[in-house]
Amino acid sequence: MTAPLAYRRVLLKLSGEALMGDEDYGIDPKVLNRLAREVIEAREAGAEISLVIGGGNIFRGAGLAAGGMDRVTGDQMGMLATVINALAMQDALEKLGAKCRVMSAIKINDVCEDYIRRRAVRHLEKGRVCIFAAGVGSPYFTTDSGAALRAIEIGADLLLKATKVDGVYDKDPKKHPDAKRYARLGYDEVIARDLQVMDTAAFALCRDAELPLRIFDMSEPGVLLRILRGEDIGTLVQG
Ligand code: UDP
Repeated sequence: MTAPLAYRRVLLKLSGEALMGDEDYGIDPKVLNRLAREVIEAREAGAEISLVIGGGNIFRGAGLAAGGMDRVTGDQMGMLATVINALAMQDALEKLGAKCRVMSAIKINDVCEDYIRRRAVRHLEKGRVCIFAAGVGSPYFTTDSGAALRAIEIGADLLLKATKVDGVYDKDPKKHPDAKRYARLGYDEVIARDLQVMDTAAFALCRDAELPLRIFDMSEPGVLLRILRGEDIGTLVQG
């Protein structure tokens, strides 16, 4: 018998770079497809699943500003990049038979819905995957903040942050072979040890709302469902 799910409603944050695969820009359709399959697997196991996808595979405001562009314009371009990624993921999910809605924090409602919390919750209850695009809708924020905010608003049981590293370490595991991975951390420990879990504004939201957060590596097939079934994978941050 398969284990029941440990979490009912979750929000998965993927970075834009997660869609690139081995490319250095844009979206690799094979990677997108694999990620979509994982999401559908979790959905079919009974989870209400929503996604936030970054935009770093296309544009980041800070990078554009470093090249001389106005920061706010750069961030707006970054937010639009997250909409592009969200539309690509919606397409991949729908091709595989899932029902999906992209909801944007900035109004571009010819291409997707505006984000309205009650509507988002209704979509999830009906079994649709929601992709929340354009972060919080304001410059100088990141999609980590968007993910934390939306997860809190929709009453998610867990925020899942997929990264290239399989959790949070006491030092950079690429540089230090003796680096140790934390299985669990308290919010205050993350701050006291100055661990880079997510950006400060996003982390403050999680801490204040006591939203549990799991940092994990999504490159291993099936890992999302295993986490939802309660396996202790990566690092769990909670109060
Ligand atoms: N962004 C923004 N406000 C938000 C979310 C994102 O201005 O609420 C912009 C910002 O320029 C950011 C870019 O969109 O760099 C892409 O998002 P992010 O860097 O979080 O993407 P990721 O690193 O996760 O791929």
